[in-house]
Amino acid sequence: MQSELKLYNSPHKQKEVFKPLHDNFVGMYVCGPTVYKDVHLGNCRTFVSFDIIYRYLLYLGYRVRYVRNITDVGHLLDDGEDRVSQEAKVRNLEPMEIAQEITINFHDMMKTFNALPPSIEPRATGHIPEQIEMVQAIIDNGFAYEKNGSVYFDTVKFKEEKGIYGELSGRKIDDLIAESRDLKNQDEKKNPVDFAIWMKASDEHIMKWNSPWSVGFPGWHLECSAMSTKYLGEEFDIHGGGNDLKFPHHENEIAQNVGSCNCQGPKYWLHTNMLLLNGKKMSKSEGNTISPDELFTGLTADGEKVEHISKGYSPMVVRFFMLQSHYRSNMDLTDEALQAAEKGYNRLMEALNVLDELEHPGGGQAGSLDQELNDLISKVHEEMNDDFNTPKALARLFEIVPKINSLKGGQLSFNDLTPDTLQLLKQTFHDFIFDVFGLKREAVGGEEEEGVVNGIMQMLIELRQEARQRRDWATSDKIRDDLKDLGIELKDGKEGTAWTKS
Ligand code: AMP
Ligand code: ZN
Repeated sequence: MQSELKLYNSPHKQKEVFKPLHDNFVGMYVCGPTVYKDVHLGNCRTFVSFDIIYRYLLYLGYRVRYVRNITDVGHLLDDGEDRVSQEAKVRNLEPMEIAQEITINFHDMMKTFNALPPSIEPRATGHIPEQIEMVQAIIDNGFAYEKNGSVYFDTVKFKEEKGIYGELSGRKIDDLIAESRDLKNQDEKKNPVDFAIWMKASDEHIMKWNSPWSVGFPGWHLECSAMSTKYLGEEFDIHGGGNDLKFPHHENEIAQNVGSCNCQGPKYWLHTNMLLLNGKKMSKSEGNTISPDELFTGLTADGEKVEHISKGYSPMVVRFFMLQSHYRSNMDLTDEALQAAEKGYNRLMEALNVLDELEHPGGGQAGSLDQELNDLISKVHEEMNDDFNTPKALARLFEIVPKINSLKGGQLSFNDLTPDTLQLLKQTFHDFIFDVFGLKREAVGGEEEEGVVNGIMQMLIELRQEARQRRDWATSDKIRDDLKDLGIELKDGKEGTAWTKS
């Protein structure tokens, strides 16, 4: 019997059987990037992890509505300035020019990592009315108050009346009050632990909107509550993000959801752990970020060698490297680990090529080999059902690799394997490698690249041959001439057409 999908629900600190609110339909919200600077590899780790979770849910047959937002307003720097606005000032551009540029780069990067696009990608600035409505609902319910045009969430009153706050991140409200030395507008708050859900804008503030309270802008946490509610409903299945968002971002999201509609919001909270660089969290403030492009080329934008990294690693090797850690574990980026990932990726792809070429001669008994392979195939599923354990699922595939090679080499016999099992093995490798893990075949060496070029040339030669047969000289000449421009010469002879590269 197939095991059930279990996932680790952060606030309950345990794995729970996944039961969607509506049969066969999953609503999943993931906090997206703040689009003021290009994503670094740590951000990519989180987005790739949720891509794998999304892909696995699709593989299980769920209809998934995956919402991942773009934060283009409201995420403030420590000095209270909006991150997007500040970057716009520095670069002398409109904030929306910054947001657009960084969003496009982010999409390109997600494509490079072969991450599927979300079903909906709402922008915070496109949902100001929804956020204003939510602020109003929270005020109406008595959990927020206005002061000098700004609106604050009354965290203390909320905790007293609803009995919750801090459970997700394990914080105690009294400790928070004690340690809270919030920087801006502290004097306007009833309590230092209260947080802004609407902020009155100063004259020099660029991004601002009319509201019942002031010309201002929404607090950062509000957008995710408003947009998840709009697209997934007041209660939905999964909310995800990096561990570092648990507090205050997600804690405040919960307070806003409950405070506005007395509804639970997400049923399951999933949090990814951090990507470290040689043991330290990769972050802009630590100044130890590596951009994905730097990792792919091994060079910085100035053409210098990237520190700690001996060479460039392809996007699929980096994706494979990410698969080798569980999403809830820290992941340390080191050159040795990347080299090992490169070997592992190549080995897996080579095994897949061998598997694809295996043909069952017919017959075959469902003996011990057959049983062993069926068990390993089930285990691949079980590992993924165990809170999306990609490193263990990969390890199960690697347990199968020697069997594949032995079947090819003749050390194992097809007599001990039914055609159905071989078919299931092929299906499982393809499903997991491509659909679930989201890996792609990459040209990994001279030989493979040569194979691809030969294949493409053969196809062009055949297309030209067909054109000639139809007396379509324009097409046949075009193929020959365009190839000539690329330095490739076609030579027609008795045996057919050959090609040479000058
Ligand atoms: P941000 O654009 O800063 O809001 O971050 C986008 C996402 O990347 C969030 O879910 C963060 O939790 C996540 N993130 C930031 N730094 C790291 C890191 N070093 N490793 C993994 N995820 C990270
Ligand atoms: Zn968010």
